[in-house]
Amino acid sequence: MKITNQKLTRNQEIVLNLLENSGEPLKAYTILSDTQKKGIKAPTQVYRALDKLIEIGKVHKIESKNSYVACNISNCTAMTSTSFLICEKCEKVTELEKENLKSFFGGISERLNFEYSDHNLEIFGFCNTCK
Ligand SMILES: [Zn+2]
Ligand SMILES: [Zn+2]
Repeated sequence: MKITNQKLTRNQEIVLNLLENSGEPLKAYTILSDTQKKGIKAPTQVYRALDKLIEIGKVHKIESKNSYVACNISNCTAMTSTSFLICEKCEKVTELEKENLKSFFGGISERLNFEYSDHNLEIFGFCNTCK
């Protein structure tokens, strides 16, 4: 369940604002250099903030690009299981909303006697502008 209106620490707010304002996924080192300008000193502080933001579902990680994106779905339940459409040309990222395929993968896993916990799905192709 998503924890809404949870009070963020100053560092978490800085990182979240940066991602929200960028509107596109940012790599960890970009986040690092930008937040250092705003007074966060150690990389571990950034990673700790990111971990927490991911945990509460405000930020998702895009594994293949090693980058982070702010979630703009108001009641996103993805948490650690995420599904993204990624444009191969302009790298635009679209999160799949309700159809997060959790029950689908859960069902397949069960049939194979595997205990499903979460998934990171990245679907590649071309966005509306690039296709
Ligand atoms: Zn989301
Ligand atoms: Zn595109």
